[in-house]
Amino acid sequence: MAIIYKGSEVVEALNNNIIAAVEELKTQGVVPTLAILRVGERGDDISYEKGATKRAEKVGVAIKNVILPADVAEEVLVEEIEKLNQDSSVHGVLMFRPLPKHINEDRVRNLLAAEKDIDGITDLSLAGVFAGIPTGFAPCTPSACMEILDYFGVDCKGKKAVVVGRSLVVGKPAAMMLLDRHATVTVTHSRTVDLPSVVRAADIVIACIGKAKMINADYLAPDQIVIDVGINVLEDGSLSGDVDFAAAENIVGAITPVPGGVGTVTTSVSMKHVVEAAQRSLKI
Ligand code: NDP
Repeated sequence: MAIIYKGSEVVEALNNNIIAAVEELKTQGVVPTLAILRVGERGDDISYEKGATKRAEKVGVAIKNVILPADVAEEVLVEEIEKLNQDSSVHGVLMFRPLPKHINEDRVRNLLAAEKDIDGITDLSLAGVFAGIPTGFAPCTPSACMEILDYFGVDCKGKKAVVVGRSLVVGKPAAMMLLDRHATVTVTHSRTVDLPSVVRAADIVIACIGKAKMINADYLAPDQIVIDVGINVLEDGSLSGDVDFAAAENIVGAITPVPGGVGTVTTSVSMKHVVEAAQRSLKI
């Protein structure tokens, strides 16, 4: 049976470090503060916001909510972002996406100051991930995948890593982070030929596809380490990853569960980034 890489263990370790860093910042008169910018009333966003607020309370990060109606004019949203950029009491900004269709998301996301971009949504932050320069922050989800690998002592050096999915939010930055850890990385996508055999050859699999249980027994091999990023809602309302967990746990060496894996670690990574942003603000 596979070892289950529980997110809660990683979260506990991360939270302990974050709490210590927050205490230290408070002695210097700084309360690390995250602004959550939400446009509209999407259920996904609201439930993430609730989870993030709870986690922030636990670690001592303050939350400032900015909520705008779904039909907000683009210029009003731009003004809010500019206000947050100017507000020295705000260290990080989490802006939910996708934004409503009438808003030019590429324009708006790039207006956020890189030093407050704790979820790596600006081109400047992403360029930093690819160039190895901390201009902003890496996106929280692929960072959470790396936190999990690091926490469970997975040495990526020389290992074959296959990333299934090439989005800018997860797949591409995850590939860069694995390269930084000296893995030999293959990035796959919907046009990859014979995906099952490519994935079977991997030592480490990062599944970030958005298709419930797609990675089934045909894709898996003994001893693999499988990080399942997918969050898919099944017909009965339950959550499933992109990996067929029941099949995988009888085959692979280790796997993250869904829920209780990458998602919960992602929330703590966002707090870690806010704290780092606050620390950086003191050094300017
Ligand atoms: P995207 O839809 O942006 O990207 C999906 C990727 O999967 C694309 O590169 C696509 O390929 C690839 N893909 C789709 N179908 C196939 C297929 N049949 N075979 C091979 N590759 C395929 O999704 P995201 O990256 O935003 O999210 C991926 C998953 O991660 C989702 O389930 C999402 O809910 C979850 N997620 C979880 C987070 C967390 O904190 N745990 C945070 C963010 C996302 P192509 O490029 O060719 O179209």
